[in-house]
Amino acid sequence: MAKVAIFGGHNGTNESGAHGNGLTEKSVAKEAAQIATAYAKACGHSVVNGFGKSLSERIKYANSENVVAVLELHTNAGGGQGAETLFCAGILSAQQDAVVVARAGAIKGLKNRGAKGDTTTRHGRLGIVRDTKAPALLHELFFIDSASDVAIWKNNKKAIIESITKEWLKRRGLNSVPKTTTSKPAPAKPTTSSKPATSNNTYKNKKLVSKAASLRFYSKPSWADKDVAGTVNKGIGFPTVVEKVKVGTAYQYKVKNSKGATFYITASNKYVELKNK
Ligand SMILES: [Zn+2]
Repeated sequence: MAKVAIFGGHNGTNESGAHGNGLTEKSVAKEAAQIATAYAKACGHSVVNGFGKSLSERIKYANSENVVAVLELHTNAGGGQGAETLFCAGILSAQQDAVVVARAGAIKGLKNRGAKGDTTTRHGRLGIVRDTKAPALLHELFFIDSASDVAIWKNNKKAIIESITKEWLKRRGLNSVPKTTTSKPAPAKPTTSSKPATSNNTYKNKKLVSKAASLRFYSKPSWADKDVAGTVNKGIGFPTVVEKVKVGTAYQYKVKNSKGATFYITASNKYVELKNK
């Protein structure tokens, strides 16, 4: 997990943004930031929002919180249509991020206006991409003064924001896959490690069964989000236990599924148990 900043544009107490078609940019940006925040949290990240903070305060907030990435959401205005993403020009990775995020936001019929960089304009809103320590993007969701853009937004808010948030997290190298279960997910990493086995023979006639809902398993010996291969639910597990291996400060079982594919899963008896086949 990582700490990221997801800001709504113009959400400082004394800021105001564009308006049109009965909407204000300030309220759209806040709602969008809240949807994006829920998605990022579901992916295991912590999020700071800074609603009520001015632009300069948001920049300071992102920097003092040491977030690893910043996304600020806005709506455009001025007679166009579609989505675009602004980045601090001259930074190649920021440009690449912006290309991907602009494309991710241009769904459900919204036009893709692409990535736009700026080093020279001292336009206040671009401070967020210029002055944060972490890589930042400013995404313009749609044109608030376009009735057709607003109609697309109203019908597809969640899909649009989740698409943007997912691709942004992925570009920043962060987990972008939400945990699917609605029940409380079991922590992947046990706080106490169980005893290592002395011999592989211990597992010969055993199968592994999960005691937890949505228990993560990994493609290699790892506790990292990026190595998660899937989850198993309570009562479900793996028919073959190969061995117990130390991963960091705790243990995992190397297991095989019914097709012989190898995975790794916590060996903590809090989350799994070995049963006779
Ligand atoms: Zn704006």
